[in-house]
Amino acid sequence: MIRPIMKDVLFLSQSSEEATREDAAVIRDLVDTLNAHRDGCVGMAANMIGVRRRIIAVCLGPMALTMVNPVIVAKRGEYEAEEGCLSLTGVRKCRRFRDIEVSYLDASFLPRRQKYTGWIAQIIQHEIDHCNGVII
Ligand SMILES: [Zn+2]
Repeated sequence: MIRPIMKDVLFLSQSSEEATREDAAVIRDLVDTLNAHRDGCVGMAANMIGVRRRIIAVCLGPMALTMVNPVIVAKRGEYEAEEGCLSLTGVRKCRRFRDIEVSYLDASFLPRRQKYTGWIAQIIQHEIDHCNGVII
């Protein structure tokens, strides 16, 4: 189900809680909503659809990579980036890392650990920030 985009900065500034299997429907709604905004959006966190759970979805070609309870366990190569966000207007400068390693649960709640680099790594960092109540 496509959900409306949350733009309330006070809501978005709150840290999200760990997701459980009971949040499986949130994963589907998040992917549906991300797919509906593909023209202007490359990733989304669950609090952007009004659910304070640690779930993110990132565009990976025609697919959506979903991560439940993602944690960055290693990072390397800091740089300055400029990003926009569907929940905000305009772009802002931020610090990102070129290479990251993320530990997370996949959409079937199986544990994964994966390295990402470049653009996809940047999007993942942006969305994990959302889970922590950090908006660029
Ligand atoms: Zn954002």
